[in-house]
Amino acid sequence: MSCRETKNLLNPYVDGELDSAGSLSVESHIQRCASCLADVERLHALASAIQSGGLRFTAPKRLKRDVNAAIRSASPRPSRSLFDWRWATAFASLALVLVLGWTLATKWTRSSEEAGLVNDIVSSHVRSMMANHITDVASSDSHTVKPWFGGKLDYSPPAKDLTEQGFRLIGGRLDYLDNRPVAALVYQRSQHFINLFVWPSNDAAIPQQDQLARQGYNLIHWTKAGMTYWLVSELNLKELNECARLLKEE
Ligand SMILES: [Zn+2]
Repeated sequence: MSCRETKNLLNPYVDGELDSAGSLSVESHIQRCASCLADVERLHALASAIQSGGLRFTAPKRLKRDVNAAIRSASPRPSRSLFDWRWATAFASLALVLVLGWTLATKWTRSSEEAGLVNDIVSSHVRSMMANHITDVASSDSHTVKPWFGGKLDYSPPAKDLTEQGFRLIGGRLDYLDNRPVAALVYQRSQHFINLFVWPSNDAAIPQQDQLARQGYNLIHWTKAGMTYWLVSELNLKELNECARLLKEE
């Protein structure tokens, strides 16, 4: 296996999602490739850091001590007032520091969750092509694909046929992302495959639309009418954007 092929498989490999043949070919490659081996070690370290929760930020005890010391040195004479403004200010500063730390920590968790989801989406896309399992139902007819999901999912994903616009619907597949079964609709543009993942989401914190590139794949994401959409392909961003635009049209 080449380096590029191996690197595409490292995330699912570290997550234990590869079949034994896949794991074996990754292992035989990393025995002779220092670069891929280093990547595996980094991924293992990241996974265990996230699991141990050691990434959560807590304000160090030293900070509290330093704040108190700074206040003491700034006020040589003790105040006689019952309500000491300096102490109030100190506590307010400390509270602010703690709140800031907590906000940073939640933001970090949120973006690392999103990064995890993006990796899962890319892995699903790569796996669907490598394992020769791109569709569970193969049809370019949206009247066949759409009802196929009925009974398998508790929502009805759109299955828009874009053959005339150059993006041929070739079928659908059940996949598992974001801790739930999701619909994957598969389109083809010349020799390139495009996976469209769709599932219900009313998370207002997720940006309305963004696009990014990961491991040589382009991703476009948007939300609409309570559903979240992720488009992923090795197709260039311009054509993938065109596909997204057509999918969003009423
Ligand atoms: Zn390599």
